[in-house]
Amino acid sequence: MSAGFVSVAYVVASILFILSLGGLSHQESARRGNFFGIAGIIIALVATIASVSMGAGGIASIVIAILIGASAGMFLANRVEMTQMPQLVALLHSFVGLAAVFVGFAGYLDPLVTTHGAEHTIKLVEVFLGVFIGSITFTGSLIACGKLDARISSAALTLPGRHIMNLGALGFTVLLGAWFLGADSVTEGMFPLIVMTVVAGVLGVHLILAIGGADMPVVVSMLNSYSGWAAASIGFMLGNDLLIVTGALVGSSGAILSYIMCRAMNRSFMSVILGGFGQTTSGPAAVVDSDLTVQESSIDDVCEELSNSDAVIIVPGYGMAVAQAQTAVGEITKLLRDRGITVRFGIHPVAGRLPGHMNVLLAEAKVPYDIVLEMDEINDDFPSTDVVLVIGANDTVNPAAMDDPNSPIAGMPVLEVWKARQVVVLKRGMASGYAGVENPLFFKENTRMLFGDAKETVDKLLGGLRSA
Ligand code: NDP
Repeated sequence: MSAGFVSVAYVVASILFILSLGGLSHQESARRGNFFGIAGIIIALVATIASVSMGAGGIASIVIAILIGASAGMFLANRVEMTQMPQLVALLHSFVGLAAVFVGFAGYLDPLVTTHGAEHTIKLVEVFLGVFIGSITFTGSLIACGKLDARISSAALTLPGRHIMNLGALGFTVLLGAWFLGADSVTEGMFPLIVMTVVAGVLGVHLILAIGGADMPVVVSMLNSYSGWAAASIGFMLGNDLLIVTGALVGSSGAILSYIMCRAMNRSFMSVILGGFGQTTSGPAAVVDSDLTVQESSIDDVCEELSNSDAVIIVPGYGMAVAQAQTAVGEITKLLRDRGITVRFGIHPVAGRLPGHMNVLLAEAKVPYDIVLEMDEINDDFPSTDVVLVIGANDTVNPAAMDDPNSPIAGMPVLEVWKARQVVVLKRGMASGYAGVENPLFFKENTRMLFGDAKETVDKLLGGLRSA
């Protein structure tokens, strides 16, 4: 394919990616956004493969690589549960990081690419930066995946002097960079490059291990951003404009999302980038008084309270996703609305385990978009609400975030459900949420617990309401 055609294809693919991002920003247009993204990727792949002159062996190896990658992707996507999506996303970010490391090494070793003078220095800087970001993204994303999958404790690892260690690692990397740039031969440059890859890998592990449970959402979107910058640096290395544009789109949209989530959680962006985020509290978090007891409710009582309400707010959380209760929740919503009761949803920005997790589930359950409200839109309405149904949410409705300055989630805005006349919490037992913090909400005067798997409980509520 001629260079002109390839350039046109790259421009078309870039436009499709931008349209895709625009589409994905609203639920109504998300499907269209996905379609644009898929079309852009196909055009980009075909143009890239067609632009390289290679023999039958080269084509065969590319086809085999695509087949292996596509089969692994299809296998994983078919098997993965909705609740495991965050881990999968983190794992996919790690692949981008690993690809950046491989391409960086390959670019450095490639005997066909000979550059001189300033061009050579620029190429070396691109290789070094690409491998550095790639290695941090690779190991950091693997740790994030382990934390989200509960294979690694979600608690923050706070080694003494960890900030000094991080700074030391950065300083050492700069020295290795100087050595790498000054190396006379590829053989000499390999040593500092390999050592830097290992240092960056350890830095990635340490940065993410130091981040506490409640702050993981920001980390996941930051790693998303890092993987974009890693791809952009590969683009510079390979002289591939499309990769630069795509990487910059992913990198900047991930950074914007991280910033939005930081604001939603009242955290500082810088402290996240530096790691050890979520450890700003000084003393131990208050423990709920052991003499306090919770008040249990029953299916019949909750059905009666719901039937006698004028206004109901449903607050879903991670437990609704685990239980796959969204369809039954959608049916309850429809039934109550048909009986003239105002039902709305309150969505916390970090509810679940993925940005927009609850919105996706509720859309799947065909809950109308206009009754699904963001935290800021609904928080003032709790005092005028009769019943709040908290379905598998915990950290996002924890009053300790506002009342206890020593709590690990202190300062995080939460849904102020306790201001409603009656709160009913659906969960299996008294376990804490992802942040591992006790929740005083469960012991409040106006809170009733409805224990059991959220799906089973919601099904029973639905049955009870139907026969009422
Ligand atoms: P939480 O993780 O705080 O709590 C979920 C609750 O659901 C648990 O307390 C659990 O209690 C209950 N639960 C689990 N399974 C079931 C079930 N089958 N039926 C009923 N209940 C169940 O959820 P939230 O959504 O309130 O908060 C999200 C947390 O995850 C925040 O800390 C956030 O920072 C973090 N996070 C969010 C990410 C994001 O991007 N949204 C990414 C990574 C982390 P029990 O076991 O007693 O039933």
